[in-house]
Amino acid sequence: MSALDRPQPNPGVMDIAAYVPGRESAPGVAKIWKLSSNETPLGPSPAAIEAVHAAASHLEVYPDGSATRLREAIAEVHGLNPANILCSNGSDELLGLLAQTYMGPGDEGIFTEHGFLVYRIQTLAAGATPVVVKEKDERADIDAILAAVTERTRLVFLANPNNPTGTYLPFEEVRRLQAGLPKKVLLVLDAAYAEYVRRNDYESGIELVSSSQNVVMTRTFSKIYGLAALRIGWMYAPAHVIDAINRVRGPFNVNAMAIEAGVQAIRDRAHVEKAIAHNEKWLPWLTDEFTKLGLRVTPSISNFLLVHFPENGGKSAEAADAFLTSRGFILRRVTGYGFPNALRMTVGTEEANHGVVAALTEFLKG
Ligand SMILES: *Cc1c(COP(=O)(O)O)cnc(C)c1O
Repeated sequence: MSALDRPQPNPGVMDIAAYVPGRESAPGVAKIWKLSSNETPLGPSPAAIEAVHAAASHLEVYPDGSATRLREAIAEVHGLNPANILCSNGSDELLGLLAQTYMGPGDEGIFTEHGFLVYRIQTLAAGATPVVVKEKDERADIDAILAAVTERTRLVFLANPNNPTGTYLPFEEVRRLQAGLPKKVLLVLDAAYAEYVRRNDYESGIELVSSSQNVVMTRTFSKIYGLAALRIGWMYAPAHVIDAINRVRGPFNVNAMAIEAGVQAIRDRAHVEKAIAHNEKWLPWLTDEFTKLGLRVTPSISNFLLVHFPENGGKSAEAADAFLTSRGFILRRVTGYGFPNALRMTVGTEEANHGVVAALTEFLKG
């Protein structure tokens, strides 16, 4: 029987390299520190955990299909209209819904060289053609993105700050991008790490969504809120985009435990402040320590850093990864992001951060 004698996936699907999540275990190592998926070392708000327990006693009831309470809590905290908020099963789901709703075969979706891998996956899954734009100094290059726009461009994905580089574009640059795009092109600003940013010239996208018809901003509860396991994302978007996605999404795409935990998590501002303070302390500390070891670190404003290893002399990222793993420190290889000789490390607990620096010191000496 030939491979053509059976159901065929849509064009593009078999060109997708399935997403490989950060590793979570190390064979034969008793104690591990998972620093591979940018999760918070502080865990979620205790109130969110309590809400999950409470919601668990009503599992026979369908959740509120429009996640009203969660949208209202988000709206209250960010000063937005809840009608312009849509929640999802992780923000990854939204990236897919947006791609599938606004692109099809023959269309083009733009993202950058070191952009989040999900953009390629969702562009291909929609049957559209990925257009990959070069970056400049490990940052998105607005002029290059604008130069790549054609008649067929439907969507531009931009993570700000970006993963895995941790770099960002100031608001003026993002505004210039929006101003230069044709009105029919949707600009998707993925602000998964916005809560961590402490820069006066940064804006997550709220302002551009409010002042235009072709920008959406996506956010997540997986990072600073510590609810990655529950899968909660949301977007702030113009009414016409909300209307379109509401027709396409699953009717109960956010589960009841996620709704209840999300409400508690976003209202616990003290917990968020604690996470920000932790990051403010350890991100510069780690950057300094790695730099002192002679390793180049891409300047990050997020909760992770990209550490570059020497090309020669046996001290490659691959060797470092194996060494760190044998000691229980699980970082992220980023070859698929165009960085074969770098590792991405999530800012961890004090113990984990000290441990990685000590292990790398030993590795580089050996
Ligand atoms: C972690 C991350 C997300 C969040 O994904 P969820 O599906 O909400 O867990 C989105 N975009 C980027 C760039 C990320 O790094």
